[in-house]
Amino acid sequence: MNLPFEADHALQQDDLAHHLHPFTDHRQLAADGGPRIITHGQGVWLWDTQGRRLLDGMAGLWCVNVGYGRPELSEVARRQMDRLPFYNTFFQTSHEPVIELSKKLAGLLPEGLEHIFYANSGSEANDTAIRLVRHYWQAVGQPQRSVIVSRKHAYHGSTIAGASLGGMSSMHDIPGIPIPDVVHAEAPYAWESGKGMEEERFADAAARSVEEAILAAGPERVGAFIGEPIMGAGGVIVPPAGYWQRVQAICRRYDILLICDEVVCGFGRTGNWFGAQTFDIRPDIMTMAKGLSSGYQPISAVAVGERVVAPLLERPGRLPHGFTYSGHPVAAAVALENLNIIEREGLVEHVRETVAPALAGGLGALADHPLVGEVRTLGAMAALELSPESIQPGGNLPLGTVATRVRNLCFERGLATRAVREGLVFAPPLVITTDEIDTLVDILTGCLDAVA
Ligand code: PLP
Repeated sequence: MNLPFEADHALQQDDLAHHLHPFTDHRQLAADGGPRIITHGQGVWLWDTQGRRLLDGMAGLWCVNVGYGRPELSEVARRQMDRLPFYNTFFQTSHEPVIELSKKLAGLLPEGLEHIFYANSGSEANDTAIRLVRHYWQAVGQPQRSVIVSRKHAYHGSTIAGASLGGMSSMHDIPGIPIPDVVHAEAPYAWESGKGMEEERFADAAARSVEEAILAAGPERVGAFIGEPIMGAGGVIVPPAGYWQRVQAICRRYDILLICDEVVCGFGRTGNWFGAQTFDIRPDIMTMAKGLSSGYQPISAVAVGERVVAPLLERPGRLPHGFTYSGHPVAAAVALENLNIIEREGLVEHVRETVAPALAGGLGALADHPLVGEVRTLGAMAALELSPESIQPGGNLPLGTVATRVRNLCFERGLATRAVREGLVFAPPLVITTDEIDTLVDILTGCLDAVA
């Protein structure tokens, strides 16, 4: 859609006047004259009101796994809306879409995760996971196990509990966050704290930090550890080999439940259906969202293993938790068709066999660029750590300045990426082709050259 300048400008003004944006610097937005308004998408491409094309290097917000413009998904949504747009799943009722989705998911999930609770967002899924953990420990007679161990740089959502679980200090700077009984261990972030360390030693040190957090809280008070297999929003922090095995052993040693937040890693992003499979993690609880419906509908899920679910199912009385839209029929029908597309088109294999090596090769070649300090890739996820000291003697620019400059230039030149601290992250739709990855790398290289 190519809007005349005046119409585009009017839309921007209306947006500035009435739209409070998430995670946005509104003064900057106003200084920019308003947002870039996206009109439609196809595959990995987006278009704006000026008719300019943008390669979506972030799959929206890590979610549009099957790419844009899928008529199968809009068709399923329309059919379900005509048939049954809504009914709840409370109080002894259910409907076909949610039953079929649950059965499908149980077949895809790692063995042992058979029961699925639904919500609308990743944040709600993680809130639900905390509540289920605490219900579980209450049901088995250890209600004091209310502490949840998370990690610095983690992102688990934006509700009060989600922000508390998250390890980003900027999200903790209002009163009441973090909520009590959430503690944070160090992240397995070698670029930050393991430079020059041998991988195994760093894995030991990072896992030890989890154990220290458990010991500091008192192991008998700790109910669960929560972690993203790869930290996404924290900067695509890929843990060192052996880290997850160590963390898992620590959880077993103290009888602590393990929650995998698969909101970003799930549904093919790491080259397996779930990040837990990539790192051989056996979680008790798994939270999912984003790629579950490829963002075509808001839906999230919490898969619960036998150990946790058994006492909850046997308890007399209701499970006192749920959302009006838990298992929404339209969202469930779309999610089911989305999973069918991922399966039918072999997108998990496509990530493993095509996207992962092409991203690793294309971005890996930038490791020698004067502006780049480190390149990390795994599956269809990648991060570039920039080293602005190399262009700014003394390195005295505020953190994030150079990455933001590169990100903004990429955006102008037709590539959507995201700046995290002094780095850039990538998570394109899984359908991306090698030619499109070449285009991504070409645009990025041009922008790095221009800023260096
Ligand atoms: N967990 C992870 C790992 C995420 O990356 C996000 C969002 O980016 C969330 C949870 C929160 O999901 P939502 O924004 O749908 O609440």
